[in-house]
Amino acid sequence: MADEKIPTLVSRKSKKEDTVVQLGSRVFGGADFVIVAGPCAVESEHQLRTIAGSVARAGADALRGGAYKPRTSPYSFQGLKDEGLRYLAMMREETGLPVVTEVVDVAAVESVAQVADVLQIGARNMHHVALLHAAAATKKPIVLKRGPGSTVIEWLFAAEYILAAGNPNVILCERGIRTFETMTRYTLDLGVLPILREETHLPIFVDPSHGTGRSIAVGPLAKAAAALGAHGVMIEVHSDPKAALCDGEQALTCETFQALVPALRAVRLASG
Ligand code: PEP
Ligand code: MN
Repeated sequence: MADEKIPTLVSRKSKKEDTVVQLGSRVFGGADFVIVAGPCAVESEHQLRTIAGSVARAGADALRGGAYKPRTSPYSFQGLKDEGLRYLAMMREETGLPVVTEVVDVAAVESVAQVADVLQIGARNMHHVALLHAAAATKKPIVLKRGPGSTVIEWLFAAEYILAAGNPNVILCERGIRTFETMTRYTLDLGVLPILREETHLPIFVDPSHGTGRSIAVGPLAKAAAALGAHGVMIEVHSDPKAALCDGEQALTCETFQALVPALRAVRLASG
């Protein structure tokens, strides 16, 4: 990375101070450590209400949940789509938490943006330029996941597309890359965090859920992310992980998440 050129707009050379994304009372990218939590997928009104209420009481800063799900298999649950968006909007009203949800194609950008406080562009779509442009045009903050086969420079170029299109509110999210290792779903590349903090002014999040695929690894790696200066984490939580329609193996229970929140805040405080 030291030898490669960081694209202009995302580079710290073009903007010294950290970019901060204000969402109501929460600041993504400032000194606060922002915890985004919720299910992988919105499965039903009842499921989302149970989990949203629980993560709100536990002290989460934003609610995540996919209404449109990009799945590896066409036979897997693909999300509740517009029905899921309705439930997310209801939960924002009920909990007061801002909503982060994924948009998977250009045609859905408008309807997702009506509900989302933050649009998520998933790992599979990091290189989807038309989607980057359409999402940028909404002017909503965008969480941009790193593609599992993408270098940091490629990821920063994807962010550059959004900034160049006139939307400065990009939040990078490291979510694991493909390596030869099979004990974890992906290899969470935490080593890039100090380098990213140096090279870009954009907020940097970490997703230890997809990054490891194993619930047992999520808490420890979330703490590591907090210690390394990440601006926040995105964590999958489910009230009944074994029954989850999507990514149950990596979901924390509501109780485990509740215990993790103060531990993360303590790590952050201790790390300065
Ligand atoms: C997700 O956050 O639910 C998701 C699908 O993540 P990723 O794009 O990182 O696989
Ligand atoms: Mn998931």
